[in-house]
Amino acid sequence: MIRRLAIMAAVVAALGVLAPARVGAWGGGGHRLILERAIDSLPAPLRAAFDLERATLLAHASDPDLWRVAGFEDEAPRHFLDIDAYGPPPFSALPRDLGAAIEKYGPETVTKNGLLPWRAAEMRGRLVRAFEAHAAGQRYGRSNAVYLTAVLAHYVADAYQPFHAVLNYDGQLTNQHGIHARFEDELPTRFAARLTYAPKPPVALSETRDTVFEALASGAGLTDGVLAADRRAADGRAEYDDGYYEAFFAAVQPVLERRTSEAVTAVAGVILGAWEQAGRPDLSAPLPRPVQKIRGRGAR
Ligand SMILES: [Zn+2]
Repeated sequence: MIRRLAIMAAVVAALGVLAPARVGAWGGGGHRLILERAIDSLPAPLRAAFDLERATLLAHASDPDLWRVAGFEDEAPRHFLDIDAYGPPPFSALPRDLGAAIEKYGPETVTKNGLLPWRAAEMRGRLVRAFEAHAAGQRYGRSNAVYLTAVLAHYVADAYQPFHAVLNYDGQLTNQHGIHARFEDELPTRFAARLTYAPKPPVALSETRDTVFEALASGAGLTDGVLAADRRAADGRAEYDDGYYEAFFAAVQPVLERRTSEAVTAVAGVILGAWEQAGRPDLSAPLPRPVQKIRGRGAR
């Protein structure tokens, strides 16, 4: 049975139905949930400002995945880093400095295995500059800060999905095709009412790259357990039915809840850290209106 199931999954994957190999971490719903909880956990002035922008923030929570789906060529490797491609735990072979990593492994290998920590760090820098631009009275500072908050949150959340950290990212190496979406999307959707999250209050994080590296390293260590639970749940079944999902969920509920909660805490921490680095700009303050000259009638 398990064999037939695996073959079916392989056929579906070969047909391209599941093939968009690196589909959005946490699914769209997961990214919105993580960002929403992160906003809720921010200190009052920042939370109040983001409250007013909640709809905008949530609408853009998965934009980086859309960029990839839309075919922006450079986007695909920015959502993961297969840390086990560089050797076994504790995954110290890969330099965390991008230049040093490229020097050691070459740009092609580094790109192929994923760029997530550096992409997240880049977005953090952009967010700091947007906060600073707003503080300096620049016109698009505030709207950029809101947009980049959603974008940065996306990449940081991706780091907490364990299957964004390993070569066997979709179970394709162990005949468990589709595990990526079953874990990150199907479980949270089916069992939303039974999942509880307990994010810790955020601590302002003064950097993002190492936070992401550590999330990837710890995530890589979780995938064997999730894959084993998937095999046990699928054993003796012809398809991924309700019984499969009940069994799979029973086994991995704690890890799913913990990783989601950790993602919330980290997302809030990086946003808070960027805002503090920019000098805690007041996002609720209206920008001074530019002085307009009165033009003569008919002037355009
Ligand atoms: Zn993503």
